[in-house]
Amino acid sequence: MQHIKIKPGVPLAEQAEIGHNRWHPDIPDLTSVKPGDEIILECLDFLDSQIENNDSANDVRDVDLTRAHPLTGPIHVEGAEPGDVLVVDLLDLRSVTPIGFSGIFDKNNGGSFLAEDFPNASKSIWDISGVFASSRHVPGVRIGAMYHPGLIGTLPSHELLAEWNRREGLLVEKKQANPPNAKTAVIRGMSGPDFDRIAKEGARTVPPREHGGNLDIKNLTIGSRIYLPVYVKGAGLSIGDLHFSQGDGEITFCGAIEMDGRAHLGFDLIKGGMAKYNINAAVYVPGIHDVQYDQWLTFTGISVEDGVNYYLDATVAYKQACRAAIDYLTQVTDLDREQVYMLLTTAPVEGRYGGVVDLPNASASISIPTAIFDVDILPQGAVAAGADFGHPGVKITLD
Ligand code: ZN
Repeated sequence: MQHIKIKPGVPLAEQAEIGHNRWHPDIPDLTSVKPGDEIILECLDFLDSQIENNDSANDVRDVDLTRAHPLTGPIHVEGAEPGDVLVVDLLDLRSVTPIGFSGIFDKNNGGSFLAEDFPNASKSIWDISGVFASSRHVPGVRIGAMYHPGLIGTLPSHELLAEWNRREGLLVEKKQANPPNAKTAVIRGMSGPDFDRIAKEGARTVPPREHGGNLDIKNLTIGSRIYLPVYVKGAGLSIGDLHFSQGDGEITFCGAIEMDGRAHLGFDLIKGGMAKYNINAAVYVPGIHDVQYDQWLTFTGISVEDGVNYYLDATVAYKQACRAAIDYLTQVTDLDREQVYMLLTTAPVEGRYGGVVDLPNASASISIPTAIFDVDILPQGAVAAGADFGHPGVKITLD
């Protein structure tokens, strides 16, 4: 079986065997496989080895975000043609080193979901031991693994790339999207005028798009099967940004427990699958290796912020649910607000929408597995002791 390797801790530009950090149809194949083949692909962490295992957040604060994401690929799948559906089995996912990191981006360099509440950069280093991770920067918690790729996708066609650049170009002035950036583009083995053209046109890898891309779905874990649209001959599958675990929403943006990782993949093809099944975006069957927690504490939020109703805005509702969790967990643990924020982005917390129709307010919730804490986090001291279990005991008598 082919095994593509990284040198851990070394930037993409200095790697021998991988990869690329932009999307473009003309990126040369890294290698090729046939339907039915398996391969092992190693991947760099999403910030291209810029984050150090130390106790300073300077590296997160000053990070060069245009170097995200170093990807491993593109893998040419023999026989794949535009209109097919590529089937990828995530047979196994692991870390390559026993260290992961998470961070909070500075408000002025990346920002995050609650950037107004948490304007300053922060960081946590996680020690990975098989299926558990713990951190000296978030003490008193241990998180179970939900290994998954933050990013997996196929190459766009020229037409699709032009469409991405058109529609995202409209947002650039408002700083709501990032335009192509040739300066830090890396395409393995390329230089000269062809490289310059790809670097100038190539789409950045931050947003998820029709081809999959940076979906950041924690449940796309070991054992999952993902179906991806094919836009170019050979499909051009690339993967990267592997996570040990992530909370729904990846709310600090810097984001999950990020790591140098290894993905064992299997490939198949459904000829003409895009039209046959009307598949125009990633579809997947979740894996069988979910982390098992049997008790959760769930916090709710509605789309009201500072006395304003945001009409059916589920994003505002999710923000308020996250704030409710932070307010509460700082009361029942020794963690401070930044540490809890970091926990919500790394632990496998479940984010859900309740109603998105009950005008004027949407409702959302975030559920925290109670077993990740070394203390009992449930509310204590209910007035009527035993009320949770129904009636107090009454002895049956006979006379
Ligand atoms: Zn990531």
